[in-house]
Amino acid sequence: MPEGDTVFRQCRILHEALAGGTITGCELRVPRAATADLRDWTVREVVPRGKHLLLRVDPPGMTATTTAGATTAPPSAEPLTLHNHLMMDGIWHVDGAPLRSSDTSANPRATHTARILLTARHADGREVRAVGYDVKQVRLVRTREEAELIGHLGPDLLDPDWSEEHRDLALANLRARPERPIGLALLDQRNLAGIGNIYRCELSFLHRLHPAAPVSAVADLPGMVDLARRLLLLNTSRVVRITTGGMMGRDGDLWVYGRAGRQCRRCRTRIERGDLIEPEIEGSEGRVIFVCPHCQSGGPTSPGDQGAGDLGTAGRDPGTGRGRGPHGPTGRMRPRTRWRP
Ligand SMILES: [Zn+2]
Repeated sequence: MPEGDTVFRQCRILHEALAGGTITGCELRVPRAATADLRDWTVREVVPRGKHLLLRVDPPGMTATTTAGATTAPPSAEPLTLHNHLMMDGIWHVDGAPLRSSDTSANPRATHTARILLTARHADGREVRAVGYDVKQVRLVRTREEAELIGHLGPDLLDPDWSEEHRDLALANLRARPERPIGLALLDQRNLAGIGNIYRCELSFLHRLHPAAPVSAVADLPGMVDLARRLLLLNTSRVVRITTGGMMGRDGDLWVYGRAGRQCRRCRTRIERGDLIEPEIEGSEGRVIFVCPHCQSGGPTSPGDQGAGDLGTAGRDPGTGRGRGPHGPTGRMRPRTRWRP
Protein backbone atom coordinates (compact mmCIF):
# COMPACT_ATOMS: atom_id res chain seq x y z
CA MET A 1 0.00 0.00 0.00
CA PRO A 2 1.43 3.37 -0.96
CA GLU A 3 2.71 5.33 2.01
CA GLY A 4 2.65 9.07 2.62
CA ASP A 5 5.87 9.76 0.75
CA THR A 6 4.60 8.06 -2.40
CA VAL A 7 1.32 9.95 -2.28
CA PHE A 8 3.23 13.19 -1.71
CA ARG A 9 5.41 12.60 -4.76
CA GLN A 10 2.50 11.58 -6.99
CA CYS A 11 0.67 14.75 -5.96
CA ARG A 12 3.72 16.87 -6.72
CA ILE A 13 4.07 15.42 -10.21
CA LEU A 14 0.33 15.72 -10.85
CA HIS A 15 0.41 19.30 -9.64
CA GLU A 16 3.28 20.17 -11.98
CA ALA A 17 1.44 18.52 -14.86
CA LEU A 18 -2.05 19.86 -14.27
CA ALA A 19 -2.08 23.02 -12.14
CA GLY A 20 -3.15 26.08 -14.06
CA GLY A 21 -4.52 23.98 -16.91
CA THR A 22 -8.09 24.09 -18.14
CA ILE A 23 -9.77 20.72 -18.15
CA THR A 24 -10.73 19.71 -21.67
CA GLY A 25 -11.52 16.06 -20.99
CA CYS A 26 -12.99 14.52 -17.87
CA GLU A 27 -14.28 11.06 -17.12
CA LEU A 28 -14.97 9.87 -13.62
CA ARG A 29 -15.70 6.17 -13.84
CA VAL A 30 -17.33 5.73 -10.49
CA PRO A 31 -21.09 5.64 -9.95
CA ARG A 32 -21.03 8.40 -7.37
CA ALA A 33 -19.43 10.97 -9.67
CA ALA A 34 -20.08 9.60 -13.14
CA THR A 35 -22.36 12.45 -14.20
CA ALA A 36 -20.00 15.22 -13.14
CA ASP A 37 -18.38 17.14 -15.95
CA LEU A 38 -15.42 19.30 -15.07
CA ARG A 39 -14.67 20.48 -18.59
CA ASP A 40 -13.75 24.17 -18.60
CA TRP A 41 -12.84 24.03 -14.95
CA THR A 42 -9.31 24.98 -13.96
CA VAL A 43 -6.98 22.81 -11.93
CA ARG A 44 -5.87 24.96 -9.04
CA GLU A 45 -3.65 22.46 -7.25
CA VAL A 46 -3.06 18.84 -6.38
CA VAL A 47 -2.13 18.34 -2.75
CA PRO A 48 -1.69 15.37 -0.44
CA ARG A 49 -3.25 15.00 2.96
CA GLY A 50 -1.81 11.95 4.66
CA LYS A 51 -2.42 9.23 2.10
CA HIS A 52 -5.28 11.06 0.40
CA LEU A 53 -4.96 12.95 -2.89
CA LEU A 54 -6.91 16.17 -3.28
CA LEU A 55 -7.28 17.63 -6.76
CA ARG A 56 -8.82 21.06 -6.35
CA VAL A 57 -10.56 22.74 -9.24
CA ASP A 58 -12.06 26.17 -9.76
CA PRO A 59 -15.22 26.79 -11.78
CA PRO A 60 -15.11 28.41 -15.20
CA GLY A 61 -14.40 32.10 -15.05
CA MET A 62 -12.93 32.04 -11.58
CA THR A 63 -9.24 31.70 -12.31
CA ALA A 64 -8.79 31.31 -16.03
CA THR A 65 -10.28 31.89 -19.40
CA THR A 66 -12.61 29.16 -20.42
CA THR A 67 -12.84 27.15 -23.56
CA ALA A 68 -16.13 26.29 -25.14
CA GLY A 69 -17.58 22.82 -24.98
CA ALA A 70 -18.95 22.10 -21.53
CA THR A 71 -22.42 20.75 -21.95
CA THR A 72 -23.34 19.56 -18.50
CA ALA A 73 -23.50 22.04 -15.71
CA PRO A 74 -21.30 21.11 -12.75
CA PRO A 75 -23.07 20.43 -9.47
CA SER A 76 -21.75 23.61 -7.97
CA ALA A 77 -20.25 26.89 -9.05
CA GLU A 78 -17.85 27.02 -6.18
CA PRO A 79 -14.44 25.32 -5.95
CA LEU A 80 -14.56 21.56 -5.86
CA THR A 81 -12.19 18.86 -4.72
CA LEU A 82 -11.77 15.60 -6.54
CA HIS A 83 -10.71 13.24 -3.80
CA ASN A 84 -9.07 9.86 -4.26
CA HIS A 85 -6.96 7.35 -2.37
CA LEU A 86 -4.40 4.93 -3.79
CA MET A 87 -5.38 2.25 -1.26
CA MET A 88 -3.58 -1.02 -2.11
CA ASP A 89 -2.41 -0.62 -5.67
CA GLY A 90 -3.65 2.65 -7.12
CA ILE A 91 -1.30 4.59 -9.37
CA TRP A 92 -1.46 7.67 -11.54
CA HIS A 93 -0.05 7.88 -15.03
CA VAL A 94 0.83 11.18 -16.69
CA ASP A 95 0.92 11.19 -20.47
CA GLY A 96 1.07 7.41 -20.38
CA ALA A 97 4.03 7.18 -18.00
CA PRO A 98 3.42 5.58 -14.58
CA LEU A 99 4.44 7.59 -11.52
CA ARG A 100 6.81 4.95 -10.23
CA SER A 101 7.34 4.13 -6.58
CA SER A 102 8.46 1.32 -4.30
CA ASP A 103 4.85 0.66 -3.43
CA THR A 104 2.93 -0.24 -6.55
CA SER A 105 3.52 -1.99 -9.83
CA ALA A 106 4.44 0.30 -12.69
CA ASN A 107 3.35 -2.30 -15.21
CA PRO A 108 0.75 -1.27 -17.78
CA ARG A 109 -2.77 -1.25 -16.33
CA ALA A 110 -5.88 -2.59 -17.96
CA THR A 111 -8.07 0.13 -19.42
CA HIS A 112 -11.05 -0.96 -17.36
CA THR A 113 -9.16 -0.16 -14.13
CA ALA A 114 -8.99 3.54 -15.01
CA ARG A 115 -11.19 5.48 -12.60
CA ILE A 116 -10.26 9.11 -13.28
CA LEU A 117 -9.30 10.36 -16.74
CA LEU A 118 -8.40 14.02 -17.09
CA THR A 119 -6.98 16.09 -19.89
CA ALA A 120 -5.86 19.64 -19.19
CA ARG A 121 -4.78 22.30 -21.65
CA HIS A 122 -2.30 24.96 -20.63
CA ALA A 123 -2.08 28.54 -21.85
CA ASP A 124 0.78 27.62 -24.20
CA GLY A 125 -1.42 25.04 -25.92
CA ARG A 126 0.27 22.04 -24.27
CA GLU A 127 -2.13 19.27 -23.31
CA VAL A 128 -1.50 16.84 -20.48
CA ARG A 129 -3.39 13.65 -19.81
CA ALA A 130 -3.55 12.14 -16.34
CA VAL A 131 -5.19 8.82 -15.53
CA GLY A 132 -5.75 7.34 -12.09
CA TYR A 133 -5.79 3.52 -12.23
CA ASP A 134 -7.29 1.48 -9.41
CA VAL A 135 -7.70 4.60 -7.29
CA LYS A 136 -10.40 4.28 -4.67
CA GLN A 137 -12.73 6.53 -2.71
CA VAL A 138 -13.23 8.80 -5.71
CA ARG A 139 -15.48 11.63 -4.58
CA LEU A 140 -16.24 15.11 -5.80
CA VAL A 141 -17.05 17.50 -2.97
CA ARG A 142 -17.11 21.22 -2.34
CA THR A 143 -13.61 22.22 -1.31
CA ARG A 144 -14.94 23.86 1.83
CA GLU A 145 -16.41 20.51 2.80
CA GLU A 146 -13.19 18.52 2.42
CA ALA A 147 -13.13 17.97 6.16
CA GLU A 148 -15.93 15.45 5.77
CA LEU A 149 -13.47 13.24 3.93
CA ILE A 150 -10.21 13.96 5.70
CA GLY A 151 -11.18 15.65 8.95
CA HIS A 152 -10.53 12.47 10.90
CA LEU A 153 -6.83 12.49 10.07
CA GLY A 154 -4.24 13.33 12.67
CA PRO A 155 -1.35 15.71 11.98
CA ASP A 156 0.17 15.10 8.55
CA LEU A 157 3.86 14.22 8.84
CA LEU A 158 4.49 15.79 5.44
CA ASP A 159 2.54 18.96 6.09
CA PRO A 160 4.73 21.80 4.74
CA ASP A 161 3.60 23.84 7.76
CA TRP A 162 4.52 21.11 10.26
CA SER A 163 5.18 22.72 13.63
CA GLU A 164 5.66 21.96 17.32
CA GLU A 165 1.90 22.08 17.61
CA HIS A 166 1.48 19.27 15.08
CA ARG A 167 4.16 17.26 16.83
CA ASP A 168 2.59 17.75 20.25
CA LEU A 169 -0.80 16.72 18.92
CA ALA A 170 0.61 13.57 17.30
CA LEU A 171 2.35 12.68 20.56
CA ALA A 172 -0.79 13.31 22.59
CA ASN A 173 -2.78 11.10 20.22
CA LEU A 174 -0.26 8.28 20.54
CA ARG A 175 0.01 8.62 24.30
CA ALA A 176 -3.74 8.65 24.79
CA ARG A 177 -3.66 4.87 24.56
CA PRO A 178 -0.38 3.76 26.11
CA GLU A 179 -1.32 0.10 26.05
CA ARG A 180 -1.88 -0.04 22.31
CA PRO A 181 0.80 -1.82 20.25
CA ILE A 182 3.08 0.77 18.69
CA GLY A 183 2.80 -1.00 15.33
CA LEU A 184 -0.94 -0.37 15.33
CA ALA A 185 -0.81 3.13 16.81
CA LEU A 186 1.62 4.30 14.11
CA LEU A 187 -0.61 2.92 11.38
CA ASP A 188 -3.73 4.60 12.74
CA GLN A 189 -4.09 7.70 10.57
CA ARG A 190 -6.19 9.37 13.26
CA ASN A 191 -3.06 9.64 15.41
CA LEU A 192 -0.75 10.94 12.73
CA ALA A 193 -1.05 10.67 8.98
CA GLY A 194 1.36 9.26 6.43
CA ILE A 195 2.81 6.09 7.93
CA GLY A 196 2.10 2.78 6.25
CA ASN A 197 3.16 -0.78 6.88
CA ILE A 198 6.74 -0.38 5.71
CA TYR A 199 7.46 2.61 7.91
CA ARG A 200 5.88 1.09 10.99
CA CYS A 201 8.18 -1.94 10.64
CA GLU A 202 11.26 0.15 9.96
CA LEU A 203 10.55 2.65 12.74
CA SER A 204 10.00 -0.16 15.23
CA PHE A 205 13.33 -1.69 14.23
CA LEU A 206 15.15 1.64 14.43
CA HIS A 207 13.79 2.08 17.94
CA ARG A 208 14.70 -1.52 18.78
CA LEU A 209 11.17 -2.39 19.72
CA HIS A 210 8.81 -5.11 18.57
CA PRO A 211 5.77 -3.63 16.74
CA ALA A 212 3.52 -5.46 19.21
CA ALA A 213 5.14 -3.69 22.17
CA PRO A 214 2.90 -1.06 23.75
CA VAL A 215 3.25 2.65 23.06
CA SER A 216 4.32 3.09 26.67
CA ALA A 217 7.41 0.96 25.99
CA VAL A 218 8.81 3.42 23.45
CA ALA A 219 11.66 5.10 25.28
CA ASP A 220 11.75 8.11 23.00
CA LEU A 221 8.35 8.66 21.42
CA PRO A 222 9.13 12.25 20.30
CA GLY A 223 12.26 10.88 18.66
CA MET A 224 10.18 8.26 16.87
CA VAL A 225 7.78 10.89 15.50
CA ASP A 226 10.70 13.08 14.42
CA LEU A 227 12.36 10.15 12.71
CA ALA A 228 9.14 9.21 10.94
CA ARG A 229 8.91 12.72 9.53
CA ARG A 230 12.58 12.80 8.51
CA LEU A 231 12.38 9.46 6.70
CA LEU A 232 9.14 10.37 4.92
CA LEU A 233 10.55 13.74 3.86
CA LEU A 234 13.77 12.19 2.62
CA ASN A 235 11.88 9.70 0.51
CA THR A 236 9.50 12.17 -1.12
CA SER A 237 12.23 12.76 -3.67
CA ARG A 238 13.11 9.09 -4.23
CA VAL A 239 11.52 6.47 -6.42
CA VAL A 240 13.06 3.68 -4.32
CA ARG A 241 12.46 4.13 -0.60
CA ILE A 242 15.49 4.06 1.69
CA THR A 243 15.50 3.90 5.49
CA THR A 244 19.05 2.66 5.98
CA GLY A 245 20.83 5.79 4.89
CA GLY A 246 21.64 4.38 1.49
CA MET A 247 25.11 3.12 2.43
CA MET A 248 24.31 -0.60 2.30
CA GLY A 249 24.81 -1.06 -1.39
CA ARG A 250 22.56 -2.91 -3.74
CA ASP A 251 19.35 -4.21 -2.19
CA GLY A 252 20.26 -2.40 1.01
CA ASP A 253 17.32 -0.03 1.16
CA LEU A 254 15.38 -1.32 4.16
CA TRP A 255 16.30 -2.77 7.56
CA VAL A 256 13.64 -5.44 8.01
CA TYR A 257 10.61 -4.97 5.76
CA GLY A 258 10.35 -7.75 3.17
CA ARG A 259 13.51 -9.45 4.48
CA ALA A 260 12.06 -12.54 6.20
CA GLY A 261 14.63 -15.30 6.50
CA ARG A 262 17.50 -13.01 5.66
CA GLN A 263 20.15 -11.79 8.06
CA CYS A 264 19.62 -8.73 10.17
CA ARG A 265 21.93 -6.01 8.95
CA ARG A 266 22.97 -5.31 12.54
CA CYS A 267 23.28 -8.69 14.26
CA ARG A 268 22.89 -11.32 11.53
CA THR A 269 19.95 -13.01 13.23
CA ARG A 270 17.32 -14.11 10.74
CA ILE A 271 14.47 -11.66 10.27
CA GLU A 272 11.08 -13.07 11.28
CA ARG A 273 7.77 -12.44 9.59
CA GLY A 274 4.39 -12.38 11.30
CA ASP A 275 1.05 -10.67 11.42
CA LEU A 276 -0.04 -7.97 13.75
CA ILE A 277 -3.77 -8.28 14.31
CA GLU A 278 -5.92 -5.19 14.73
CA PRO A 279 -8.29 -6.25 17.52
CA GLU A 280 -10.54 -3.25 16.94
CA ILE A 281 -11.47 -4.48 13.50
CA GLU A 282 -13.62 -7.55 13.69
CA GLY A 283 -12.29 -10.38 11.59
CA SER A 284 -9.07 -8.49 10.95
CA GLU A 285 -6.59 -10.62 9.10
CA GLY A 286 -3.73 -8.58 10.41
CA ARG A 287 -1.01 -6.95 8.41
CA VAL A 288 2.37 -8.46 7.88
CA ILE A 289 5.27 -7.32 10.05
CA PHE A 290 8.99 -8.05 9.93
CA VAL A 291 11.08 -8.21 13.08
CA CYS A 292 14.63 -8.96 14.12
CA PRO A 293 14.05 -11.12 17.18
CA HIS A 294 17.44 -10.19 18.57
CA CYS A 295 17.45 -6.42 18.05
CA GLN A 296 13.80 -5.76 18.84
CA SER A 297 12.48 -6.33 22.34
CA GLY A 298 9.06 -6.08 23.90
CA GLY A 299 7.33 -8.70 21.77
CA PRO A 300 4.57 -10.78 23.28
CA THR A 301 5.40 -13.98 25.09
CA SER A 302 3.09 -16.69 26.27
CA PRO A 303 3.60 -19.81 28.38
CA GLY A 304 5.38 -22.45 26.39
CA ASP A 305 6.17 -20.03 23.61
CA GLN A 306 9.64 -18.79 23.02
CA GLY A 307 8.03 -15.49 22.20
CA ALA A 308 8.83 -13.28 19.29
CA GLY A 309 11.51 -11.56 21.29
CA ASP A 310 13.41 -14.78 21.75
CA LEU A 311 13.01 -16.63 18.48
CA GLY A 312 16.46 -17.27 17.21
CA THR A 313 17.87 -19.15 14.29
CA ALA A 314 17.63 -22.51 16.05
CA GLY A 315 15.30 -24.91 14.28
CA ARG A 316 15.30 -22.86 11.14
CA ASP A 317 16.37 -23.90 7.74
CA PRO A 318 19.33 -21.69 6.93
CA GLY A 319 18.31 -21.50 3.30
CA THR A 320 14.68 -20.57 3.56
CA GLY A 321 14.48 -19.26 7.09
CA ARG A 322 11.47 -21.48 7.61
CA GLY A 323 11.11 -23.60 10.68
CA ARG A 324 12.26 -27.17 10.16
CA GLY A 325 11.07 -28.48 13.51
CA PRO A 326 8.18 -27.89 15.87
CA HIS A 327 8.16 -24.58 17.60
CA GLY A 328 5.63 -22.26 19.15
CA PRO A 329 3.05 -22.87 21.86
CA THR A 330 1.15 -25.55 19.98
CA GLY A 331 4.21 -27.46 18.89
CA ARG A 332 2.91 -27.31 15.32
CA MET A 333 4.69 -25.83 12.39
CA ARG A 334 3.54 -22.33 11.83
CA PRO A 335 4.54 -20.83 8.53
CA ARG A 336 3.76 -17.39 9.83
CA THR A 337 3.76 -16.43 13.46
CA ARG A 338 0.66 -14.58 14.46
CA TRP A 339 1.22 -11.98 17.08
CA ARG A 340 -2.01 -11.01 18.70
CA PRO A 341 -1.61 -8.05 20.98
ZN1 LIG B 1 19.21 -7.77 14.60
